[in-house]
Amino acid sequence: MPQLMAEETFTLNKIFDENINRKLGIALVGLGRYSEEQLGPALKETSYCKLTSIVTGTPSKVEKWTKEYEIPPRNVYNYDNFEKIKENKDIDIVYVVLPNALHAEFVIKAAKAGKHVICEKPMAISAKDCEAMIQACKGANRMLSIGYRLHFEPHNLEMMRLAKQKVFGQVKKVIAEDGMNLPGGTWRTDKELAGGGPLMDVGIYCVQGAIYTLGTNPIAVTAKEGEKTDVERFKEVAQSIAWTMDFGNGVTADCKTSYAENMNLLRAETDKGRFELSPAYAYKGIKGRHEMKDDMYTQPMEVEKIKSQQSIQMDDFAKCIMNGTKTKVPGEMGLRDVKILTAIYEAAKTGKKIPLAL
Ligand code: NAD
Repeated sequence: MPQLMAEETFTLNKIFDENINRKLGIALVGLGRYSEEQLGPALKETSYCKLTSIVTGTPSKVEKWTKEYEIPPRNVYNYDNFEKIKENKDIDIVYVVLPNALHAEFVIKAAKAGKHVICEKPMAISAKDCEAMIQACKGANRMLSIGYRLHFEPHNLEMMRLAKQKVFGQVKKVIAEDGMNLPGGTWRTDKELAGGGPLMDVGIYCVQGAIYTLGTNPIAVTAKEGEKTDVERFKEVAQSIAWTMDFGNGVTADCKTSYAENMNLLRAETDKGRFELSPAYAYKGIKGRHEMKDDMYTQPMEVEKIKSQQSIQMDDFAKCIMNGTKTKVPGEMGLRDVKILTAIYEAAKTGKKIPLAL
């Protein structure tokens, strides 16, 4: 079975010319909910990077952000003059937090401006776009990572460890579910901007969770779109979808995602019982437990406490840049996942099992 690239931590030759002993400057592109409620606050807790610039199409947001984060007026950009960041030495990293279909354009522009890039999930709305983004960053000798925060979250790391070390035996099956009741008035149901429905948005965490728990890539998928209870609202994208990833040797992951149902589970089953997280993919309050057949009681999962997943994720990327080491959540992982999402849609459309060559 193919091995998981996330396990790689080897050192690259120093490919960057920076001699850095300061916090790296981050420009946030898109000041929507995720930037405002998670990334901005997390950037107050980081040790190796800090918020030095904002890029927004909404002038009314500028005053609040510049005051709160002490950003000088020269470091405020909009989407039209974004490319001018090339001349700005306060910016080392561009973090793209825009609707999915806009990721490719801004990642490529950031790389061409000589900046390292973090891109939110899903990396893009097509594998072709992902490939162009990877090429642009390689061509500019800049690093690219995807905002896969759960690779830095202790409970999810514990799921990886328990599975890899076979603490409760070989994992035979994964169950992964992620869904929410989507509030109204959002680009997330607009196919052109979102690229798809809940699968692209939150179902991607199930794909990720199954792969990092099992430590291998799937070899095929089957899928079925759910009934629409709100046909008007979900006329462009699926309301829900269920799919199975085949990992070979009889190992499978049964997954579900929805924009009309709250779900948040990552479960691994072995012959001895199961270990799981629920909620599994939240920003805070993730809880884990083991339920083994030979144990009368469910045992809670004990892990270290952290400030925020996002601050660890961004600090890790900053350290990768400083030390010339590979990120464990590279563009190639984002591309792999977009290929899997595309195959899931294809499986749902055709009713066929779609093989994956990852
Ligand atoms: P949001 O709707 O709250 O914000 C989107 C931002 O993009 C807004 O500031 C909006 O003004 C701007 N924008 C620019 N052009 C736009 C256009 N044409 N249409 C609509 N908005 C436009 O969204 P969000 O929740 O902040 O999500 C942004 C990205 O971050 C998405 O790719 C999403 O998948 C990702 N995200 C990741 C996580 C995570 O946990 N890693 C969580 C939430 C969102």
